[in-house]
Amino acid sequence: MTVAEVAEGAGAALLVGAGVLAYAARVPSSTLLAPSVHEGVRTRRAIALTFDDGPSESTPELLRVLAEYGVRATFFQCGANVRRLPAIAREVAAAGHVIGNHTEDHARLWLKSASFIHRQLAAAQESIERATGLRPCWFRPPFGVRWFGLRAAQRSLGLSSVLWSTIGKDWKWPADRVLQRLLRGARNGSILCLHDGRELEARPDISATVEAVRRLAPALLERGYRFETMNEILCPTI
Ligand SMILES: [Zn+2]
Repeated sequence: MTVAEVAEGAGAALLVGAGVLAYAARVPSSTLLAPSVHEGVRTRRAIALTFDDGPSESTPELLRVLAEYGVRATFFQCGANVRRLPAIAREVAAAGHVIGNHTEDHARLWLKSASFIHRQLAAAQESIERATGLRPCWFRPPFGVRWFGLRAAQRSLGLSSVLWSTIGKDWKWPADRVLQRLLRGARNGSILCLHDGRELEARPDISATVEAVRRLAPALLERGYRFETMNEILCPTI
């Protein structure tokens, strides 16, 4: 084997390795880096709405829309936002929604140490519990990216990762386009991902999200779907 052939072989191995890593870290259905789910049971006509990056000053408006249609959802909150707006975090819980962990600071977990990842998850557990009295059992990694060390952090904190079957891209698209994407992604057991905040931004504009949900909820109810939280959507016997 020539030097060039060895180099080529090593390059190919690296490329395959990088491909596997990208898959493991980013593809919602991958469970290589940490146990996770991306859809619920297919046996019921049920859908889970999930919201990331809250609580924000804009969350109460979304809560009013959800209440109007009797929808209970799951909110993956950032600890820093919960500390800034504890009353809104409590309002989310009091309305019967499930609260999950979305790290303390909306941290990027890739290329980070196991102890950094553990600290981000543990701090958010503390912030959420202090404000609401609830200790989450669901975790959504920011940007959907998992990394080495997440598996151990999840295990020690009693968390499971939740990805999604369809993400609404509501941080960049108008309500119409978000709505169409979510309607296309709606099927038994779908986990739909939207946002009631923008990372740690104060007073984010989530009008596209609110408008999309205002139209999505009645449309899905009309099609015979019920809305379930993460605590329900995985259960085969409800
Ligand atoms: Zn996020």
